[in-house]
Amino acid sequence: MEMGSKVKLPVCTSCNRPIPPGSLAVKFPCPNCGEVIIWRCETCRKLARPYKCIKCGFEGP
Ligand SMILES: [Zn+2]
Ligand SMILES: [Zn+2]
Repeated sequence: MEMGSKVKLPVCTSCNRPIPPGSLAVKFPCPNCGEVIIWRCETCRKLARPYKCIKCGFEGP
């Protein structure tokens, strides 16, 4: 684990908040186009917030 280096945090696709390392966020490729990695933070998973693919516009729970 690298400490102190500037790591660009992934951003939750649903709420646009940065996802801290070690959180229970999930990432998966877009089910429609497969070209975009969808990130969902712990909160959005719990609340089942919808996400939208930035590339193809696919929306899903
Ligand atoms: Zn979120
Ligand atoms: Zn897509």
